[in-house]
Amino acid sequence: MSGIKVWIDQDLCTGDGICEEIAPAIFFGADDGLYYVREAGTEAPTEPTHSFHEPVDVPDDLVEATIDAAEECPGECIFLDVE
Ligand code: SF4
Repeated sequence: MSGIKVWIDQDLCTGDGICEEIAPAIFFGADDGLYYVREAGTEAPTEPTHSFHEPVDVPDDLVEATIDAAEECPGECIFLDVE
């Protein structure tokens, strides 16, 4: 793991889905119209597996895409924590 965690502030999410377009292994949209983080390398979930603001680890090979998603997020609501 990269030592980087990522989480979304769903209170600010616009639901446009740009994060999932850029990094589908980390972000996905749920039926409630909001986007969530998910465990990379697992089968795509159909409903949120993490609660609001809960972080997941970012694997090394997904750091760049995760940072890109955070930079492109129109809600400015994707946050990275560095351990
Ligand atoms: S890019 Fe940001 S605002 Fe858009 S769906 Fe993802 S978290 Fe929400």
